[in-house]
Amino acid sequence: MRWLLILIAARAFSHSFDISPAVIHQGETLKLSADSNADSARFLDRTIRLFPAENGRCFGLMPVPVLEKPGQYPLEFLDSNGVVLQRTMILVRNAHYGKQNIVIAKSLSELRPSPGERETVNAFRHEVTPVRFWQEPLESPVPGCMTSPFGVMRLHNGKPTGDFHAGIDQRAPAASPIHAIAAGDVKIVRPFNLRGGTVAIDHGQGLQSIYLHLSSFAIKEGDHVARGDVIGYAGSTGRSTAPHLHWTLYVQSEPVNPSQWVHLVPCREPPKAPAAPHAPAP
Ligand SMILES: [Zn+2]
Repeated sequence: MRWLLILIAARAFSHSFDISPAVIHQGETLKLSADSNADSARFLDRTIRLFPAENGRCFGLMPVPVLEKPGQYPLEFLDSNGVVLQRTMILVRNAHYGKQNIVIAKSLSELRPSPGERETVNAFRHEVTPVRFWQEPLESPVPGCMTSPFGVMRLHNGKPTGDFHAGIDQRAPAASPIHAIAAGDVKIVRPFNLRGGTVAIDHGQGLQSIYLHLSSFAIKEGDHVARGDVIGYAGSTGRSTAPHLHWTLYVQSEPVNPSQWVHLVPCREPPKAPAAPHAPAP
């Protein structure tokens, strides 16, 4: 009996914390799971809220910024009073994203965002809503291969832009349908100058997606979509030289590598049209 009480007491005071995947690179996302005593998690100067999950535990997504230096950093789980419940060292590995030059016409390089374009997208990506609509696996928005990967440092006509490619580009013929990667609330449906036809979806609990250069839309702001719903059609609007889809996955406002979430195949040969540049996002 005494041993049983000790065992029960030990269980009551023990915590269990899960962090996956075991190997993490720059630009990837950590999935955190903890027992219900945990309220938030802290990593690399970012504190995220943990949300109650169906299994009685709590769950959160923690991004590793693309530009974070490889190395070991502490990840902490905190209770509602800010007391550290658990501290684990995380090794962030170099992703070796590389560089990519884009040949871009002067008229396109001089394109400026619409009034409020940048502010609207920034406000969208900084919002974290509590209801989780997304489930894994996420769906690829188009079947086309990947013409430009995530994370490469971009040069325009040989000049460094200082920006990395915050999403991926996939082949998508003009007017081909684009699908929602997961269920969510549609927050932005706008024809912007720089990003072109833009759709942004909030999937909940810090996961969001944005789709650029669309020729037309199939949904409107305020709609709720299911995974795989058609949200619009591919095009070459905004800063783009050929029809393609650029999309970005955000976790807690940070652009993250979609290849960790969706199986994406790089195109074997370069496309016949010039590599399609895109609006810088963020
Ligand atoms: Zn792009």
